Amino acid sequence: MNVTLTNIYAERCQRAQAEMAHAGVDYLFVGPGSDLRYLTGTPGMDNERMMMLVIPQQGEPAMVVPALEKLATSQFASYFELLDWRDGEGPQGRLKQILGDVVGREVRAAVNGHLWSMFLLDLQTLLPKGNFSNADTVLKKLKITKTPDEIKLLREVAAMADHTFSELITMPFEGRAEREILSDVNNLLLKYGQEQMLFCIVGSGPNGAQPHHHTGDRIIRKGEPVVLDFGGSYHGYCSDMTRMVVVGDKPNDSEYEQVYKTVDAALEAAFAYVKPNVSCESVDAQARNHITEAGYGEYFVHRTGHGIGMEVHEDPYIVGGNQTLLQPGMAFSIEPGIYLPERFGVRIEDIVIVTDTAGERINLSSHQMIYVK
Ligand code: ZN
Ligand code: ZN
Repeated sequence: MNVTLTNIYAERCQRAQAEMAHAGVDYLFVGPGSDLRYLTGTPGMDNERMMMLVIPQQGEPAMVVPALEKLATSQFASYFELLDWRDGEGPQGRLKQILGDVVGREVRAAVNGHLWSMFLLDLQTLLPKGNFSNADTVLKKLKITKTPDEIKLLREVAAMADHTFSELITMPFEGRAEREILSDVNNLLLKYGQEQMLFCIVGSGPNGAQPHHHTGDRIIRKGEPVVLDFGGSYHGYCSDMTRMVVVGDKPNDSEYEQVYKTVDAALEAAFAYVKPNVSCESVDAQARNHITEAGYGEYFVHRTGHGIGMEVHEDPYIVGGNQTLLQPGMAFSIEPGIYLPERFGVRIEDIVIVTDTAGERINLSSHQMIYVK
């Protein structure tokens, strides 16, 4: 493996160990997913066969790995030992070997949120006197601000989403099912370089009034607004953007334009407020106050945004009560919405990076009202 990359992961592990010392954590247990990818370069295989990175506060990390994944994982094993186990024998013996005389003693253990509960139960059996906590206390501090290399990847994956949207709006919408538009989004994200689509909400007409509508068979009709919220990943880093389109040349609901302009202005008010040392909740308040003053407060039913990185949703959350201060390198969405039940919904979403002085948008698709065929 490339020397520079190896150093990135070894360095992240060392930073995790420093945070563990700070937080009073003796062992960190990380299962497959974005946390594992952040620490090693591979997300691992997320299934019922235990695969788990074990990082002690001091000393050498090790990974328990199913024998059939050993070869694929070995290229990432730059700073940790691989201990493989075979079907039939189970992983517990290997875990015991790694933990040595810690087994049965009092120990402060942190597990990442994506670790399956069945593996946590295995750990609790081995460490009955263990004091278990969420590894976010350690990992959040590392992941919440992005390095220039990470920001470059976030920009690239956001540009792929913008290209996808530009081409999507040249395609027909009227008379097609939401599901067919989802399929177009999937194809376009891959065409423009993403490694996979992670989600796609196509909320036509009244379906748009459910913020997390499950894209289905509904046929899209002329005059309807359509919420398009989609994302995917590139080298593990995620995109997430929302745009509205109207089918035909005029929305069938006369209030649509006013609602659209209110949401857009709320997004701009929050965006203009972004700079280092302002709190997450104050950014939320900018968007929320604007929508409330316009008379739609009760229809803005979710937080203003969420952090983004190797997860679509991660810290920092742009929500009332979160007093975390923004710092250069943080990346998050601003995505206010207004949802009028049984009529339509409007959401617009951009990803923003905090610079030394302000916020910088990395989704560049226009906020103009867009009409499609
Ligand atoms: Zn989204
Ligand atoms: Zn989002």
